[in-house]
Amino acid sequence: MFNNSIWLKGVKTKANKKVTKDLETDILIIGGGITGLTTAYFLKGKKVVLIDKDKIGYGKTAFSTGKLTYLQDNLLKGNKEKENLYLQSQIDALNIVKDIVIENNIKCDYESNLSFLYATNKKEKRKIKKIEKILTRNNISYKIKENNNLYNSIYSIKVDDTAVINPVKYMLGLKEVLTKKIDIYENSIATDFEYIDERFKVKVNNSYIIAKILIVATHYPFLISLGLIPFKTHIEKSFLAAMNIDKNKKFNAISQNGNHSIRFYTREQEDYMVYCSVSNRLSKNIDNEKISKNLLWEIKSRFNNKVKYIWSNIDVMSSDLIPLSGKLDKNLYIATGYSTWGLTNGTISAKVISDLILGLDNKYTSLLDPNRMSNIVNLIVNNMKTAKTYILSKAIKNYSFYKKEVVVYTENGIRYGKYTDDNNVEHIVYNKCPHMKCNLIFNSLDKTWDCPCHASRFDIDGNVISGPANYSIKVEKK
Ligand SMILES: Cc1cc2nc3c(=O)[nH]c(=O)nc-3n(C[C@H](O)[C@H](O)[C@H](O)COP(=O)(O)OP(=O)(O)OC[C@H]3O[C@@H](n4cnc5c(N)ncnc54)[C@H](O)[C@@H]3O)c2cc1C
Repeated sequence: MFNNSIWLKGVKTKANKKVTKDLETDILIIGGGITGLTTAYFLKGKKVVLIDKDKIGYGKTAFSTGKLTYLQDNLLKGNKEKENLYLQSQIDALNIVKDIVIENNIKCDYESNLSFLYATNKKEKRKIKKIEKILTRNNISYKIKENNNLYNSIYSIKVDDTAVINPVKYMLGLKEVLTKKIDIYENSIATDFEYIDERFKVKVNNSYIIAKILIVATHYPFLISLGLIPFKTHIEKSFLAAMNIDKNKKFNAISQNGNHSIRFYTREQEDYMVYCSVSNRLSKNIDNEKISKNLLWEIKSRFNNKVKYIWSNIDVMSSDLIPLSGKLDKNLYIATGYSTWGLTNGTISAKVISDLILGLDNKYTSLLDPNRMSNIVNLIVNNMKTAKTYILSKAIKNYSFYKKEVVVYTENGIRYGKYTDDNNVEHIVYNKCPHMKCNLIFNSLDKTWDCPCHASRFDIDGNVISGPANYSIKVEKK
């Protein structure tokens, strides 16, 4: 079994140059995921520099299910105008990706596909009925199926103008298109910035990039204060698996409660079902080993198929499940809060941001406005939960699911985490996330230190694997 995303298996790319000296540009994009790359695509006539801390295409997008659909679990927004606009934004995003693929002949296994949204109980069915009203209001035709034998569903609706892609091939295709038009740097981490004399001075590796316009497309904006994002969002994590099946099917599906998501894919003449399990809110109790075992057990008992790939992914959930993307402040733009639909939301965020910069109208600008304060109730509830995670992460000294190779201890008031590997070598790190100081938990599945508050991850030696933290937790040897 391959403990990684099916989209990354066998992917070998040559890294672009990294930032080694000071540079100046008009527009700096930090982050080469679907958002950063698509924004650069729309700005390609301008003087743009795009940087990524790793190689392009290895961020969260590479761990998604690769569906491009507007028939989503979270279409209900409690407000007709918002529901209509959000739905239209997803359809527009789908068409943008399709156009980009066709215009640039990107070989990303793009496939037109049916999408199902299904209910497994009466409550979910009632919600789907409400979603039908949104579709009808927007002149979208759909078909209903009662008692569909699709994954225990009692009711489902389907639309036929959606798609699936291989998200890594799509990003690498975009990178290729852009390489001739803008400057792309890889292995270049942005760690800080200042705004001086109407210019951003961004620290990248040990150099500085000066830019008139800054776009932070790092999935989770990596600087704490940006738009109060930690207070407007929370993080959810899910596990995914790809299993062999007899024959590829031409549809994708999601349960109305968002707990199960399915699509199909053919790779090197083998057909796969990609299956995504329950989404878990990050907390100190998240036991990755147990959750992945449960997924394997669920697949065995439900489908009895052989799992070839297993991996996990996280996403930033906004309080109203609408992205927080656009202009934050003077020439500073962010894009986040995709709430598990970042292929479409990353694309539409890129369009909104580039239109703002190019001075073009975009009807989704206020829907996505990152400065908005919407759904106050969800906002308060989420913040209380995050605060609880923070406080508990401080209070707890050890965790029941830790095995004996992991110890968390305090010395001279400083908290450390120690992992002893199979060769009896001890790896000691500071047990505090540099982002907002939450204490870290050990992820025994991936052998990483994870932040239960905002999902930063560090390897056993303290190097940052993914942000928002951008500093390591290494303990320098004396
Ligand atoms: C289980 C699961 C399944 C999903 N499936 C789907 C799906 O089928 N369809 C869909 O629409 N959405 C899906 N999503 C959501 C989607 O994966 C994300 O919302 C989306 O990929 C985020 O894109 P991004 O460009 O913001 O981030 P990323 O792809 O993570 O790109 C951000 C980039 O920024 C770089 N970076 C970060 N920090 C720095 C720094 N300090 N300096 C320089 N570079 C930096 C990273 O290396 C990375 O390459 C899913 C989410 C989950 C959790």
